[in-house]
Amino acid sequence: MTSQPLTYTANALDRATLLRGDTAHVQTLLTGGAARIVLMWNLRHLIDDAPRLQTLSFAAIAGAYDPTASTLVFLGLQDNTPWFALGLPNSEAPPALDIPGAFTALDYRALNEVVALLPGEDASILAYARAMILWHHNHRHCGRCGAKTAITESGHSSTCVNPACAHRTFPRTDPVVIALITRGDKQLGEVCLLGRQAAWPPGMYSCIAGFVEPGETLENAVRREAAEETGVIIGESVGDVRYVASQPWPFPASIMLGFQAAATSAAISRNDLELEDCRWFTKDELRAFGERNAAGPGFKLPNRYAIARLLIDGWLVDRF
Ligand SMILES: [Zn+2]
Repeated sequence: MTSQPLTYTANALDRATLLRGDTAHVQTLLTGGAARIVLMWNLRHLIDDAPRLQTLSFAAIAGAYDPTASTLVFLGLQDNTPWFALGLPNSEAPPALDIPGAFTALDYRALNEVVALLPGEDASILAYARAMILWHHNHRHCGRCGAKTAITESGHSSTCVNPACAHRTFPRTDPVVIALITRGDKQLGEVCLLGRQAAWPPGMYSCIAGFVEPGETLENAVRREAAEETGVIIGESVGDVRYVASQPWPFPASIMLGFQAAATSAAISRNDLELEDCRWFTKDELRAFGERNAAGPGFKLPNRYAIARLLIDGWLVDRF
């Protein structure tokens, strides 16, 4: 059973939203000597051998920081310490930092490669920093008029530089519903519905998930995804789709919204062929599943740090 807080949900920073508009003050926080700066370079972050997130001072990054080519975001405060995220331009050679002992490209690690080893607070700050920088990288031009955009509000908005337009946009997160679908079976007892995509490690099964569409409720997104991917019908009553928990998922810009859903049908039909396989499992069958990275054949669970695992583990101990 999962007892640790869900991965990416332990962000200890005060987002200090009221400071964001005071860019002169935020600039003094950046250069005042106390700032801790989280780097992102080639989609990777500085991680030390512990492994822990390695932050840098402004003095260390000043030479590599070109405001016209870099993405700087004020993340917030931890006690009185200001935190920033700095996205540097992609390049073959690592950025030149002004600190003793040069970092090599190997010191920059992909978040999803190290997340299982990182303390929860570090992973959560990285999820926040990564999502903010990626959003800016993917919104360099105005969606309304096509002109370039400029970073505003200390990184928490982006504004079109065309004065006749001046359209302002805000960092987005894309909602994804993920559901543990259950049913009472006459012969088997309580069973849950898990599926697998062809790209996943052999034997791994997980909960049913998909993006919420505009104009759709979260509950109906669960019902639609279940019908498309598995052919299973979810009940129409209010309590048939119940919210459990959420998890930021910055790959690149999602928030996973976890539900338990009650099925009213059993027959499986992989209508959109997104899943390679889909089955009902009993609790005893699930308890015999191996870990995702376990060697050998057999069924495997999703990663311990994914919300799918929290949903499965919670169901196994009757928490829901
Ligand atoms: Zn514009």
